[in-house]
Amino acid sequence: MNDDIFDYDADVLVVGTGGAAFAAAITAAVEGSSVVMFERNEGVGGTTALSGGTAWIPDNPALRAQGKDDARDDAIRYMCRMSYPQWYCASHPTLGLPTDAYELIEAFYDNASRAVEYLTGVGALDVIADDAVPDPTRPIDLGFGIELPEMPDYGADLPENKVPNGRHCRPSPGTPLIIEQLERAARERGIDIALEHRAVKLLQNDDRAAVGLELRYRHLTVLARARKAVVFASGGFAHNAELVRRHLPGRVYGSCSTSGAQGDFVSIGIEAGASWATWPTRGGSRSRSRPHCGRPHHRGCGSHGATR
Ligand SMILES: Cc1cc2nc3c(=O)[nH]c(=O)nc-3n(C[C@H](O)[C@H](O)[C@H](O)COP(=O)(O)OP(=O)(O)OC[C@H]3O[C@@H](n4cnc5c(N)ncnc54)[C@H](O)[C@@H]3O)c2cc1C
Repeated sequence: MNDDIFDYDADVLVVGTGGAAFAAAITAAVEGSSVVMFERNEGVGGTTALSGGTAWIPDNPALRAQGKDDARDDAIRYMCRMSYPQWYCASHPTLGLPTDAYELIEAFYDNASRAVEYLTGVGALDVIADDAVPDPTRPIDLGFGIELPEMPDYGADLPENKVPNGRHCRPSPGTPLIIEQLERAARERGIDIALEHRAVKLLQNDDRAAVGLELRYRHLTVLARARKAVVFASGGFAHNAELVRRHLPGRVYGSCSTSGAQGDFVSIGIEAGASWATWPTRGGSRSRSRPHCGRPHHRGCGSHGATR
């Protein structure tokens, strides 16, 4: 490819500027790669910047420091039940979930804490875990002038939730919001952040390897070259009415996620050869059949998922 045609040139291109994108970008920079991040919005942070400001991490280091054991099997059961109540089946080998959805939750348990440890170790993150026992009368200082009553975790009463407090990592007292910590760490490492740059196409070579991005900046087409990798950390699709209508079960009345959550990667990824595997589609058909627990008397395993 002719080098002259590129407006940006880096080892690693990262699409998005939320928590996932910064984790990838900072890691790549620490490991010696040059990095450019692209964000379709006018500001940095995505849904991460709009969130409650904690990082929900099972078996996190701060929790372990409190002497709590967030056992793998229990935590995975809890996450499967919370994430897919309609599919959850306590006796099924993958708890009623399609294998890839189950493996994604396993991967989250196995790697999320490692990511926090890594980012903390390189000085990009400074967080503490919730206290061991929630006290609703005692406010938590979120670190930017707002205090909230201390609350237990989502589904704290579920029998699968053996650690109802301590998985939320908050900024350490006196430190900025997590997203601000990450942005500062990225900029300190020389990572360039291009705002209002929307990735629209993955550039691939003849072997279909990713070699760059085509982006839109206002009315301009911009090309970026990736010498090593392209990372899409572009969030969800809650603001794409067509994808929501097709793929999210039940009524969806809106979303508090960033306006950039348009699911751009769905079409970009499919065009680049990725598959759209597990998501349910409306009207009862699914792109992959849902596993069944084997009990003969019912069609929906979710109905007997509860063990309480
Ligand atoms: C109201 C609310 C509160 C929450 N509170 C918490 C909480 O306290 N703790 C917790 O752990 N989780 C919380 N969550 C969930 C959490 O915020 C998200 O799971 C997380 O922020 C997702 O991070 P991300 O990096 O994957 O995506 P995002 O933070 O959304 O980042 C994706 C970015 O990619 C950009 N983008 C998309 N397409 C393109 C494109 N084509 N080109 C360039 N850029 C693009 C988007 O504009 C966006 O900035 C909350 C969610 C909401 C909505």
